[in-house]
Amino acid sequence: MSAQPVPPVPSSAVPQDAVAAIPERNVVDQAPKGEVVLKITDLCVRFPSDEGPVNAVQDLTYEARLGRTLAIVGESGSGKSVSSMAVLGLHNPKRSSITGSILLDGTEIVGADEATLRKLRSNTAAMIFQDPLSALHPFYKVGNQIAEAYLAHNSVSKDVARKRAVEMLELVGIPNPQRRAKQFPHEFSGGMRQRAMIALGLVNNPKLLIADEPTTALDVTVQAQILDLVKSLQREFGSAVILITHDLGVVAEVSDDILVMYAGRAVERGLAKDVLARPQHPYTHALLQSLPSASEDSDQLQTIKGTPPSLVNLPSGCSFHPRCTARDRVPGDACATALPDLRVSSPGRQIRCHLANPEQVLAQEGAS
Ligand code: SF4
Repeated sequence: MSAQPVPPVPSSAVPQDAVAAIPERNVVDQAPKGEVVLKITDLCVRFPSDEGPVNAVQDLTYEARLGRTLAIVGESGSGKSVSSMAVLGLHNPKRSSITGSILLDGTEIVGADEATLRKLRSNTAAMIFQDPLSALHPFYKVGNQIAEAYLAHNSVSKDVARKRAVEMLELVGIPNPQRRAKQFPHEFSGGMRQRAMIALGLVNNPKLLIADEPTTALDVTVQAQILDLVKSLQREFGSAVILITHDLGVVAEVSDDILVMYAGRAVERGLAKDVLARPQHPYTHALLQSLPSASEDSDQLQTIKGTPPSLVNLPSGCSFHPRCTARDRVPGDACATALPDLRVSSPGRQIRCHLANPEQVLAQEGAS
């Protein structure tokens, strides 16, 4: 394959103001602690399409631990939401092919029947979505929806369930929860709906909470409040949290660990603090370069050249190679012909890249 022109490398340094927001505990807490509640091994998710099979997720392996927040990051179509929906068995088995293993609190999800999945949903793992207006039922009062979720997993009276719903609304900071419980979702503001979704997700005290872009539709002030809420509820409930986002500012704010995905595959894993401060994969580096920084003088936003590839026709070799500014630092045409393995690049860090000395190369690129 002929070499494509290498676009100019952004010269700004990785924004440190975002990294500084991560709690200091990450610096000393090098070894992940907490019981593993989710273990995903070699997960592949495919969907049929008129153009051919869509390889939405390939060879994905990771784990989530109680008390820790794992951020899954990547552009649209990177596989982050598809893989997380698979954890709750939300893909139609007739319209998808799922292989590999998803062990949720010791139960295998791949191939599990609907009764098993129903038992685990909400009770062991729950999901909060980007758009609570479409996730909450518009015809049912908010309190009733939370109470129903509680009744589905607990042998209690309707009265007890209703009290629990009000308690949950109070816990997530909704003022006058008694009155609010009797209202419909459309009577709530965007921020309050998101809080109600979180109350619904946590009502059964699940071990795992998956938050799919929970703050994307909210303004910055409400976004900060929701992130603070997720953090404090995690401390209270001790759950594992998986945060799906394309916003590295959000990652810096709340995450312990990070998994960066590109074109359906993991490309970098490690402690959030380390990865954000010293990315080793060119894609992570490019994502960070394109983060707006309050300390930058430039009025131009950096972007990653090109677009994510089609998941039906992935590029040969490394899927990122058509957009990668570092590929000419790898000898020969390995980037265009050989898919790199996800390998340990330094203690606690894995990358999927052929670069032998990625930090050095990316530091030079950032400085050029
Ligand atoms: Fe870039 Fe090559 Fe590394 Fe892929 S393998 S990220 S193309 S340097």
